[in-house]
Amino acid sequence: MGYPTGFIDFERIEPPKREITERIKDYQEIYGTLNQHDGMIQAGRCMDCGTPFCMHTCPIHNDMPDINNLVCQGEFQKAYELLSQSSSFPEITGRICPALCEEGCTLGLHHKSVGIKSIERLLSEYAFDSGLVLSHAKVKPTGFKVAIIGSGPAGLACAQLLKRHGHEVVVIEKMDKIGGLLRYGIPDFKLPKGILDRRISQLKLEGIRFLTSTLVGNSLETENGVHSDATTLITPDTLTAEYHAIVLAPGSEIPRDLNIPGRSLSGVHFALDFLIAQNRENNGNGQNPIKVTGKDVVVIGGGETASDCIGTAIRNGASKVIQLDYHEELPEEVPVTKYWPYYRKIKRTSTSHEEGCERLFATNTTAFLGKERLEGVRTEQVVWGEGRHFDAITGTKRELHADIALIAMGYAHPSERLINAFGLSLNAKGNMLSSEGLNDKYVTSNPKVFVAGDGRRGQSLVVHAIEEGRQCAQQVHHFLMTDVFLLSEKNMPSSIKFFGR
Ligand SMILES: Cc1cc2nc3c(=O)[nH]c(=O)nc-3n(C[C@H](O)[C@H](O)[C@H](O)COP(=O)(O)OP(=O)(O)OC[C@H]3O[C@@H](n4cnc5c(N)ncnc54)[C@H](O)[C@@H]3O)c2cc1C
Repeated sequence: MGYPTGFIDFERIEPPKREITERIKDYQEIYGTLNQHDGMIQAGRCMDCGTPFCMHTCPIHNDMPDINNLVCQGEFQKAYELLSQSSSFPEITGRICPALCEEGCTLGLHHKSVGIKSIERLLSEYAFDSGLVLSHAKVKPTGFKVAIIGSGPAGLACAQLLKRHGHEVVVIEKMDKIGGLLRYGIPDFKLPKGILDRRISQLKLEGIRFLTSTLVGNSLETENGVHSDATTLITPDTLTAEYHAIVLAPGSEIPRDLNIPGRSLSGVHFALDFLIAQNRENNGNGQNPIKVTGKDVVVIGGGETASDCIGTAIRNGASKVIQLDYHEELPEEVPVTKYWPYYRKIKRTSTSHEEGCERLFATNTTAFLGKERLEGVRTEQVVWGEGRHFDAITGTKRELHADIALIAMGYAHPSERLINAFGLSLNAKGNMLSSEGLNDKYVTSNPKVFVAGDGRRGQSLVVHAIEEGRQCAQQVHHFLMTDVFLLSEKNMPSSIKFFGR
């Protein structure tokens, strides 16, 4: 415990944050990095609890009590080394994770929790600045080749660990650049793309190979709402013949649609059509064709995607942004132990909400209005009953003016084309089916094919995708070093050869 009375003596220190009036003029990052002095004080607030719930609620189980102890003593290098044992990309989770760890912080029961996320970011920036994020010492090559489909956080985390085990790894991505939703979903004001590029350069130095604009499947065509820059096709048969193991980490790409009257009007778009194009424009690749300057924008949906659309529309000069969420408005505070140590179900206000958006809750969108172009939306108030059922409240119909509507209602499941191409099964929700056991969670009905990330568990968080990628890598490694290694003729012990053949 770095500072025994730190939790009494010091208040939580928030990282620097840009003023709204300034930040909405550009796409630069909203939050900054804590300075080292503030980081040491913040880490000194950690109580080093006997049972660190922060480690339990963090999906990758970062050893925060020990990391905080080292930070408090100014041992940044050692703290980073400990952090990087469990965290694949702390510079990314230190920016965009909702910090499930902080919800579990015991100090949070009677005070403000330790700012763990800001410490993670401080350590990762320190490590990059000090040249500590190096290629891992060359491990002996195993001779095994693994192909990973999808370069989101699940695919990248999986590739990183498999490479460090000595396997030859290629990551195949259908978009023109690596990163999955980290690049073509999450806006620069939350995650600048330079941070992602810096990590990808480092992964290349470690020896991971990347193929972009390359789709894995039986045809270059994709489903409605799924984006692809692919000009090259690789079939499952080719991959199966050339690689010892294949990992599918394709994300959950099929967007939930809103099939109500007027859906085909011009001006109604899926959220990612808007966000992907803006990410491309911000990084010097074309212009966002969905123009919102001076327009009234409605964003339909209540999650991160909706919030990112709001911040993007505001930066692009929308005259008004309204968020329509059919869920009821949650309270801003709940009794402290109601959900602890888990993530509280409360009304959360994102940086994008702060920037000026009207939020309408318990509001269902029932029609897009207009002749050819969108002119408005019709809404109705709802009341929620048991389970996932809601009823409309009579007499609450309303029409709102809108020039642009962005559908941000989440993602249902991964592309069925990819799953079918590999002959895999789907679970009831349409995700890739895998075993559920602790030691075979990422294994499919095809022994060579493994699955990880949002495409397996359903749409989720970056930290869960990293967790899945890391755990999947361990199962692939085990498969290669036991099943494949032992079964290949040249590696088979002579005694087995004698009796077996
Ligand atoms: C707008 C938005 C904002 C978000 N904000 C946050 C946030 O702030 N914090 C947070 O924790 N989470 C956030 N999330 C969720 C998070 O981004 C995802 O949970 C995470 O990226 C899932 O990782 P993944 O690797 O499973 O899939 P993805 O990131 O979706 O990557 C999958 C990749 O596979 C590629 N691919 C798919 N099929 C093929 C194929 N056949 N051939 C080749 N390549 C293929 C895709 O092109 C894609 O690049 C956000 C999501 C969205 C949409």
